[in-house]
Amino acid sequence: MPAAGDNGAVGRAATGLAVGLLALAIAACGGSPAVPAPVAATGGPGARHVLLVTIDTLRADRLGVYGYTRARTPVLDALAASGVRAARAYATAPVTLPSHASILTGRYPPAHGARHNGMAMPEGLPTLATVLKAAGFATGAFVSAFPLDRRFGLARGFDAYGDRWARGPDGRPADERAGQLTVDEALGWWRTARPARSFLWVHLFEPHAPYGDARSGRPVSDRYDDEIAEADRQVGRLLDGLGADRAETLVIVAADHGEAFGEHGEIGHSLFVYDTTLHVPLIVQGVDVSPGVVQAPVSLVDIAPTVLQATKVPLSATMDGQALLSPGGPGTPGTRRQLYAETLAPFEDFGWSPLRSVRDGAMKYILAPTPELYDTAADADESANLVATAQAEAARLKAQVATFAAPASTTAPSTLTPDARRRLQSLGYLGGSGPRANQPLADPKDRRELAARLAEVTSGELSGVALERALLTIVRDDPRNPQARMRLAFALAQRGDCAAAVPHFRAAIAAQLPSADAHLGLAGCLVAQGKGREAAAVLEAADEVEPDNPVVIANRGAVLSDAGQPLAAVPLLRRALALDPDLHQARFTLAIAHARAGQRAEAAEEASTLLQRLPSGAPQRPEVQRLLDAVR
Ligand SMILES: [Zn+2]
Repeated sequence: MPAAGDNGAVGRAATGLAVGLLALAIAACGGSPAVPAPVAATGGPGARHVLLVTIDTLRADRLGVYGYTRARTPVLDALAASGVRAARAYATAPVTLPSHASILTGRYPPAHGARHNGMAMPEGLPTLATVLKAAGFATGAFVSAFPLDRRFGLARGFDAYGDRWARGPDGRPADERAGQLTVDEALGWWRTARPARSFLWVHLFEPHAPYGDARSGRPVSDRYDDEIAEADRQVGRLLDGLGADRAETLVIVAADHGEAFGEHGEIGHSLFVYDTTLHVPLIVQGVDVSPGVVQAPVSLVDIAPTVLQATKVPLSATMDGQALLSPGGPGTPGTRRQLYAETLAPFEDFGWSPLRSVRDGAMKYILAPTPELYDTAADADESANLVATAQAEAARLKAQVATFAAPASTTAPSTLTPDARRRLQSLGYLGGSGPRANQPLADPKDRRELAARLAEVTSGELSGVALERALLTIVRDDPRNPQARMRLAFALAQRGDCAAAVPHFRAAIAAQLPSADAHLGLAGCLVAQGKGREAAAVLEAADEVEPDNPVVIANRGAVLSDAGQPLAAVPLLRRALALDPDLHQARFTLAIAHARAGQRAEAAEEASTLLQRLPSGAPQRPEVQRLLDAVR
């Protein structure tokens, strides 16, 4: 995983300090013994501690214990060897927030409500954290990516919720962090709290795109494995860090979803509900767990009841899952049930049909405009659609889908601010043009090429001319796609071709993107073209799209200052800094504005404050120091 801001995604790339602040906007199976013994079947106290590790975007088939011959996952493989491994565990959604909400609530997405990234889980829903806290557990969670930010509702019940993102040189918060930092923070909490009983959840983001450095020339699959190896190392640090408490800890490791590398024409995850992105590793190890393999299909909704059973905390909430290791649970021969999964990403991100699916034994039905039915035992790749030949089975499973979820097409992100939307987009989500009114919803599989091209663009695998060419193709095929328009415009502007960039910025703005990024990019080009007055007008429009966005306000100040009105710029820059004191470029521009207005003392004060706030190794320090020396 590269440093935050290193992948070229819109809204993330850091830029150096400059008098013109505008640049910063660009920143923008088999063979194992059968069923394990029930957990803690006798009257013992149950597990004292619970460690839940979720590894983002980790395909089950990339672990040695799931049969990968090139695996570099010794920690997870050893954990599985001494615990219970679910051979066929499935995510409830191929999307980070809905899947984690299912893990923590034991509910399918229609029941927990966080059905897509950015849709906050409602208050009042019991989670593992709220239930265990009420039972006297110390509770801590430490996450590594913005889709799990506390604003989306998973923090309830946790005494500590680690979701602090480092800031880039531009002062904007990053959208992810290295697992090393997350594990450091988690172990710090553990050692300080020294809990008698505890529930610790750690989320690692390494395997999520971008995979390492795409410019290294190493094949994408190898770089994906590198990221998995790093996540495996961090799990090892975490387990070692528990020290003597390790023996009394129930450890659960799972992924929130898998990752597609071209299967079904998909790149990344979220668009489809094929097993490429639903099949995940699930390992339970520790107190009273006898080694074994669960061969029956299980779901991530089974984690919460499994934890409650192992800790002997009564199940006080309704859950869709079943305790994995209990008599009569999914590991028991002869038991059978349906598992549900869905994705709203096609609808919310592209305006296409959402997908809902039910699995019953080996049979899997996908409710789509053109429905699909697969026998996953005979056809693990889900390549032979049996709907036409097995009509009765298809009808039976279609009826089952309705028992899990009402149609989802009227749902909309409830609490998504423009800032949150921008940050989710920068991680590759919300990739397209969004729902369009009064049009029949397209089947995602009929649009897979377009979606794959968009995913390629957001994955960080393309740069320079290749990125530009991919974006041009998307814009040609989907001229109304404002995301593609904006990314293309930024790519053109970054290589200095503002003349070509401006029409694309204008098209993105006309399509009413929910963020001010396109305005900021357009204003930057207009300034570069010497059209300061026009840039000021564009920034005023940006203020209406995203009121109280400190970056917009600071840019308005910068334009005024550069237009010879430094005194008029000062209040705007002060307001931007009141909203975000770590917006470093704004403070630098403020110091410059003071200097231009002849207010040397104020200029020196802001420059000094900036030097105090900038990290010791920040590359901007010499420039700030020169300014300070000049005005002192
Ligand atoms: Zn994820």
